[in-house]
Amino acid sequence: MKEIVPSPPPIVRNQFETIRELFTKNVVPSYGRFDLAFSHGAGSHLFDVNGRRYLDLGGGIAVCALGHAHPAITEALVEQSRKLVHTSNFYYHEPQGRLAQSLVSLIGPGKIFFCNSGGEANEGLFKLARKFGHDEGRFEILTAINSFHGRTLAGISATGQDKVKKGFEPMVAGFRQVPFNDLAAMRAAISPATVAILIEGIQGEGGVTPASPAYLLGLRQLCDEKKMLLLMDSVQCGHFRSGRFQSFQRILEGVSGGENFLPDGISMAKSLGGGFPMGAFWVRGPHADLLGAGTHGTTYGGSPLACAVGLKVLEVIAKEKLEANARDTGEFLKSGLLQLKQCHPKVVREVRGLGLMLGFELAKEISTLPGDPTKSVAVRFTNLLHAAGLLAIPAGAQIIRLLPALNLSRAEAEEGLKIIEAVAARLAT
Ligand SMILES: *Cc1c(COP(=O)(O)O)cnc(C)c1O
Repeated sequence: MKEIVPSPPPIVRNQFETIRELFTKNVVPSYGRFDLAFSHGAGSHLFDVNGRRYLDLGGGIAVCALGHAHPAITEALVEQSRKLVHTSNFYYHEPQGRLAQSLVSLIGPGKIFFCNSGGEANEGLFKLARKFGHDEGRFEILTAINSFHGRTLAGISATGQDKVKKGFEPMVAGFRQVPFNDLAAMRAAISPATVAILIEGIQGEGGVTPASPAYLLGLRQLCDEKKMLLLMDSVQCGHFRSGRFQSFQRILEGVSGGENFLPDGISMAKSLGGGFPMGAFWVRGPHADLLGAGTHGTTYGGSPLACAVGLKVLEVIAKEKLEANARDTGEFLKSGLLQLKQCHPKVVREVRGLGLMLGFELAKEISTLPGDPTKSVAVRFTNLLHAAGLLAIPAGAQIIRLLPALNLSRAEAEEGLKIIEAVAARLAT
């Protein structure tokens, strides 16, 4: 490893340590951070304060849809901020109306509410479901084990992972989890109080697990039958990441009965603003006016600045055909990872995902894996990738996620595969 990672000169090391010290003293320690501090980026590359270059296949956790420092985003920010940054939702403005129109045309008949994050978008869906069932006394929302729905109090109540709930009990009432991709379990869990089902089209934090076509179609049928809302958390798997705007559009491609599939609500964030913080949810036509005047709101949501950037991200994705790139470059990356699994089955156990939302599962124990044995295999493997110049995102104890920019080039994908292969090969020997 020594030849790949020269130690930084002492003066530079001080710069990182100075930054870390500021955090240790002043920032709430709620994150397990890696020992890296970045100063700037360009496209799919990031540069740390030591001047070292990294290939970023984490994309800021599926946020930087156009990579880093994309000139079109900079231009939209500068141009719009010269005109109007914020007005509040007491008034109308063109960018919010136009972005809503674009999102509706990409999904289907319905309306959009704008907010500022994924957690907030899910909160909106929870309130929508409560309002929908209120007069009948229905309020319960069923979600999936291993799901992730954000860090708000209702978000952790909805999330199917104990580690996010621990220490924050009691949970918000009205959420229950059942196994993912198990239609019978979902049907069996419905109570007279159940009003909605919420799932991710592709589970992200839970380890990159796509919903099966039969599960999606079955949930739609179940919700119609029981007059419940089908809600989808597309915060991570949406915005063309799967190779289509919505992951369910990709999953149901060519599946009979899938042509007209639509959920009743969809939450969005992450890639929506390409790095500018914003979130949104779409509500299907029949329920689009359920949240009437005064029932829901946020001060910042859908500001002229945020929406101008959101529109620009969509424009670049269309102009540069990034939907097709996510599909093709994703397919290329996935086949490379599958090859890796074949070569080193004792290191890489499984490869999952669609488009540029990919995950590979590592073996539970890799005896050759260096690093702090109290840290998970995923974190220790990620440290090795970092040392070799590649950024990826751990999920759970054993999974590494690749959530790169949608404009990742073939050459960059090759560069990434080479690095992952080198790290895996070293551990396999
Ligand atoms: C990231 C994420 C969220 C939370 O979004 P924030 O912007 O961090 O609040 C919710 N759901 C899913 C599936 C996510 O990946």
